Amino acid sequence: MAQDRKRQRPNILITGTPGTGKTTTSSALADAAQLRHVSIGDLVKEKNLHDGWDDELQCYVINEDLVCDELEDLMEEGGVIVDYHGCDFFPERWFDRVVVLQTENSILYDRLTKRGYEGAKLSNNIECEIFQILLEEAKENYEENIVVALRSDTVQDVASNVETLANWVNNWQPVS
Ligand code: ADP
Ligand code: MN
Repeated sequence: MAQDRKRQRPNILITGTPGTGKTTTSSALADAAQLRHVSIGDLVKEKNLHDGWDDELQCYVINEDLVCDELEDLMEEGGVIVDYHGCDFFPERWFDRVVVLQTENSILYDRLTKRGYEGAKLSNNIECEIFQILLEEAKENYEENIVVALRSDTVQDVASNVETLANWVNNWQPVS
């Protein structure tokens, strides 16, 4: 699999429960390491890569095949940060690093409440974080040695995560 990679710069997946700081971290890292930030949620909306609106879950029903087709060329080029609260439908070969952001429950609760989440949507996301669903999903779908869990409770955490990841990007060597 490694021999197929032609990219000169690494691709990173930043995942985690909604509210853990994926978009904040991804955009800061994109600036710090000159990578392209792709928010899957925004892409789905912009390019209509969905099968309608789910009233119960209050979100678009993402069309995973359309999303993967849309991104294939970009991912092959490399230097992309993908930002999404799921990781089980992307091709494994796309990513050199899979980052799972994690946030302490009461902090996450406040962030999601501020964002207007309530009822089942709020409790589902808090449960998702308590049970470390995204970390499990990442470990199931990618080699464990490329998966890293990072704490994202404070703004200092964002800064140090961005620094750590930018250093990793700058030291990354393409497979020759
Ligand atoms: P996600 O993309 O994972 O849903 P966001 O990056 O949109 O999360 O962050 C959600 C909210 O929480 C934003 O208001 C952001 O400023 C704040 N936030 C995210 N991560 C942190 C952090 N580590 N420390 C403090 N505030 C944060
Ligand atoms: Mn986001």
